Amino acid sequence: MYTLDFPNPPQRPTIRRVPGREIQTMSRRSEDRGFFNHHGSFNVPGDGRNRLVVRFGPVIYLAMELSPAERSEVESHEMDHFNDFLAAARDLKNHLNRAVRQATWADLQVAWDWFNYYVRDDARNLHRSMGRDTIVMNPRPRSTAPY
Ligand SMILES: [Zn+2]
Repeated sequence: MYTLDFPNPPQRPTIRRVPGREIQTMSRRSEDRGFFNHHGSFNVPGDGRNRLVVRFGPVIYLAMELSPAERSEVESHEMDHFNDFLAAARDLKNHLNRAVRQATWADLQVAWDWFNYYVRDDARNLHRSMGRDTIVMNPRPRSTAPY
């Protein structure tokens, strides 16, 4: 039996400007202008209190080579990814609030796997709606979706 320690994620992402080549590396070469990462962590600290601790540190990375006009276009696109992430984090939190007391650690890890799958699937759908199909999908989790 676990208790949940899951504050709402920051409602605004941190913006970092980095060289475009760093964006290529973090996006596995699918992007070179901007990238979003929620930097989530999901664990049970080994303090014997059986708390599931979920934290997010969302960051939008923008290539420093962009002109001001390009930067605002790319930032606006990355904000769409950020807003999809906020919705997915709300769904995860709702699920965990209901499930955490009866769940095993394995059940909880399955929820985290599916959350990350949903975030990536949302990103792929956003890109497809723009006529781009550049998101590299991780394999669908083998487990049954818990929510
Ligand atoms: Zn994108």
